[in-house]
Amino acid sequence: MFVLDTLTHRLKRGCETMDYPKGAPAALPDRHGGSLRVESSKCAERCSECAGVCPTQAIMPRAQKGVTLDLGRCIFCAACVEACPEGAITQTGDHRMAARTRADLVLGEEGREEVRLAPALDAKLRSLLGRSLKLRVVSAGGCGAEEADLNVLGTIGWDIGRFGIQFVASPRHADGLVITGPVSRGMELALKKTWDAVPDPKIAIAVGSSAVSGVPFTGNPEVLAGASSVVPVDLYIPGWPPHPLTILDGLLRLLGRLGNDRFTPPARPPAA
Ligand code: SF4
Repeated sequence: MFVLDTLTHRLKRGCETMDYPKGAPAALPDRHGGSLRVESSKCAERCSECAGVCPTQAIMPRAQKGVTLDLGRCIFCAACVEACPEGAITQTGDHRMAARTRADLVLGEEGREEVRLAPALDAKLRSLLGRSLKLRVVSAGGCGAEEADLNVLGTIGWDIGRFGIQFVASPRHADGLVITGPVSRGMELALKKTWDAVPDPKIAIAVGSSAVSGVPFTGNPEVLAGASSVVPVDLYIPGWPPHPLTILDGLLRLLGRLGNDRFTPPARPPAA
């Protein structure tokens, strides 16, 4: 009887794993505005209201007009969106924001309004990896938020294993590292040794704005400026913490499983 009940329950519930990236992703939660867009052409001359309210110095005024906004230093508080009198900074609702270089995360440079999404690893490395990517997670002074969202990817709703991606216990069994946290002085040597233990060729992925740039601890003598202070980073995933969808998108992008297609965020009900 128990087995019959279990089977009936399973049949009624159906498959609980989201079919992203084949289907449309679920909308981000209301409190998560997604990535940012900077339209410097809308900025008034010598206006720097947004830079004044940014708690992490992610925004820098340009010489005459407009600003640059470093998504790698952003904690997505939306203070700049509210402060901008011209509506030049907006939230896009887009979960995608992983990039291959720090420069690609700087909006407002060279007329770029949105993040330049990560291209795939080169074909030779992808062919070496095949259909499997084993990653060792190193929390280098992380607060636990990024680690929690990485754990979410292993649950039934996400099932990251279906893409051949797996978090493993030993760096010797890994193809690369996932690093969280700004890299505290106490974790510097541990991170270096773990990196050295991963066989070549290997990759490093910085997850969360702390690992990307060290914010919000920048300047504290007890922390470094993120994962790239110790290892060469191949993928930067901003967010404080990044939504699991942002992390999944970044990993799939790195493996060449996604294109740079346009994305229309699912519609949200108007705010009450
Ligand atoms: S959303 Fe990001 S860039 Fe804007 S004020 Fe907050 S931390 Fe600064």
